[in-house]
Amino acid sequence: MTATTKSFIPAPRGDSKRLSVADARARILADVAVVREIENVPVRTALGRVLARDIVSPIDVPAHTNSAVDGYALARDELPKEGSREFRVVGSALAGRPYTGTVARGDCVQIMTGAPMPTGTDAVVIREQAAVRGDRVTIEYEADRARNVRMAGEDIAKGQAALAAGKEIAAAELGMLASLGLAEVPAYRRARVAYFSTGDELRPVGEALKPGQIYESNRYTLFGLLTRAGVELRDLGVVADRPDSVRAALADAAANTDAVITTGGVSVGDADYVKETVEALGTIRFWQVAMRPGRPFVFGKLGNAAFFGLPGNPVAVMVTFYQLVRPALRCIMGEPSPPLLPTFRARSLSPLRTRVGRTEFIRGVLGRDENGELTVRSTGSQGSGILSSMSVGDCFIVLPPESGDTEPGAMVDVQPFHGLM
Ligand code: AMP
Ligand code: MG
Repeated sequence: MTATTKSFIPAPRGDSKRLSVADARARILADVAVVREIENVPVRTALGRVLARDIVSPIDVPAHTNSAVDGYALARDELPKEGSREFRVVGSALAGRPYTGTVARGDCVQIMTGAPMPTGTDAVVIREQAAVRGDRVTIEYEADRARNVRMAGEDIAKGQAALAAGKEIAAAELGMLASLGLAEVPAYRRARVAYFSTGDELRPVGEALKPGQIYESNRYTLFGLLTRAGVELRDLGVVADRPDSVRAALADAAANTDAVITTGGVSVGDADYVKETVEALGTIRFWQVAMRPGRPFVFGKLGNAAFFGLPGNPVAVMVTFYQLVRPALRCIMGEPSPPLLPTFRARSLSPLRTRVGRTEFIRGVLGRDENGELTVRSTGSQGSGILSSMSVGDCFIVLPPESGDTEPGAMVDVQPFHGLM
């Protein structure tokens, strides 16, 4: 009787004990060891790193009050209050070649964009609004005339905090640092990341495939993802599905590294040794995240290094990387709240399949309908081995755990990934 009753108790839903994607990410960010070493590096070398100290501007940017247009610099209160007025042109000022004299009342200086405003002037009349005859220009009265002047320090004032520690140094920051006259910048060193793939079926490109073999591709995808993430990488190759090989590779990877990433071998198959080996060499923190693709995903520690055991399936590698690994690597490199993929709402044009209890990341293609509204369609088959879906697609359609299947016309969350990271 007891046995019969037991057989009617529903098995616990696997997803209910799995972490949500947001919880998994929060746990990882709270658990990684943040890089502390600061290096002064040439500005361009800092691209993709994180600023380690606040940058206080040593100068005004722009350094001089200068003209925003090509035209004639003069004293604003000399402009006609009605009718027109003639000015004498006493010289010219170019960017990098200022007019050094003092401009008297009733006089003006021909000036080019970026040239410092000559002493005695505080406004520029654009060339098109000045009638030139010899060394005289006639200017008509105009209400609400623009000053056309950029003030010294209007971008960044001397002594002002120009960039805050913890900021990623991207293209705009490189330019800003250079505009402050800085040749070097204090940045955290890059995170050191070691990675390898596991699988006896994997062959390197350039070799002929034997029956049952496939070309190894995850290390290529990871190379791209990791390079874009700005880390220093160490590729440990393909490791055989043997406990001793996996153990040796993990020990090597964890030495002098901030993060270790593996792909494959974390399922519960007979040849999946990664999880148990991490457990033996370090700790597993969790290995259940309610997402698809992306299962199984293992997070743990190998000494000081964060360990990310990604699934073998190529799409799952990319999804878990974007959602869980990349934020962790940016955090390790000194960005305490790394930016996530931005999320927008779009009208779905496709039927979308999911199951309540997990977050579904469907690859989609963004578009606009005739009203200019954002739309998204599925790339088609969503198998987690179909890597072309990541190439054809430009966004994830994110169906939250509480969502079931949705029909065309439904509003859904989308996260563009194309070219963003
Ligand atoms: P696994 O997680 O090891 O069971 O692998 C899941 C699937 O992903 C299998 O079909 C593997 O052949 C495939 N796979 C695993 N690793 C790689 C890799 N590095 N490159 C391409 N496919 C892989
Ligand atoms: Mg495998």
